[in-house]
Amino acid sequence: MDYGFVRQRVEEVRARVEMACRPSGRHPADVRVVAVTKTASPDVLSALYAAGIRDAGENRWQIARDKLAHPASAQFEWHFIGALQTNKVKYVVPRFSWIHSLDRPELARALSAEAVRRGAVLNVLVQVNISGEAQKHGIRPEDAEDLILLARELPGLSVRGLMTMAPIAERPEDVRHVFAGLRALRDDLQSRLSLEAFDQLSMGMSDDFEVAVQEGATMIRIGRRLVNP
Ligand SMILES: *Cc1c(COP(=O)(O)O)cnc(C)c1O
Repeated sequence: MDYGFVRQRVEEVRARVEMACRPSGRHPADVRVVAVTKTASPDVLSALYAAGIRDAGENRWQIARDKLAHPASAQFEWHFIGALQTNKVKYVVPRFSWIHSLDRPELARALSAEAVRRGAVLNVLVQVNISGEAQKHGIRPEDAEDLILLARELPGLSVRGLMTMAPIAERPEDVRHVFAGLRALRDDLQSRLSLEAFDQLSMGMSDDFEVAVQEGATMIRIGRRLVNP
C-alpha cells in the first residue's frame, strides 16, 4: 500500500482542528491527534511520522503486535484505546504509555501490578459510557468517582482524565451533548476530588472530532480519516 495520501490527510485534520479551536480561543497544540492504525499495514507508521504524527493508537493487542514490530513504532507514543482483558496487560504495559479504557477495578489492579513490575508509570483514562448505550464499553458516570479514587491509590498509575465513545450519529451535532457531558463530569471530579493532572479528555473520532474539540477534547482518536485510502 502506498501511503502517500497520509500527509494531506494529516494536514486536513490539523486545519480542521485549528478551525474548531478558534471560537473558544483554544490552542491547537493542546489537541493531540492520536492516529488509530488498526487494519492499516505497519508501513503507515512511516507516513504518519513523516507527516508529524507522534501518537498512535490501537484497540486490540492482536493487531497492535504487527505495528509494534515495525522499526518506526519506536518513534511513537502508543495509546491503548480498546477493551482490555487482564490477561493481555503483561503485553500492553511495556509498549503503551497511555491506556484510554480503564473501566473496572480488576483492570486497575492488574495495570498497577504490571507497571510496578516494570518500574513504569502508566497514564490512564477512565472510560465512561456517557450515552448510556447498552453495547458501549465504559462505566456509568455515577461510578467514575469510585474507580478514580481506587486507581489514584494504586502505585504505577497516573489517572489523567476521561475517555468516551459517542454513538454513531447522522450528524456530529447530535452527539455534542455526549462530549459536553464528559467534560462536565471531568470538571466536577477535578474540583471535588482535587485531582492533580486530571486534565485529559479523549473524545472525538473521524466523523465527529470537530464537535469534540469545540467541547474541550485534548486527544482525538482518528482512524479512517487518516489511514484509509
Ligand atoms: C477505531 C477506533 C477509533 C477511530 O475511529 P475512526 O472512526 O476510524 O476515526 C477511535 N476510538 C476507538 C476506541 C476505536 O476503536
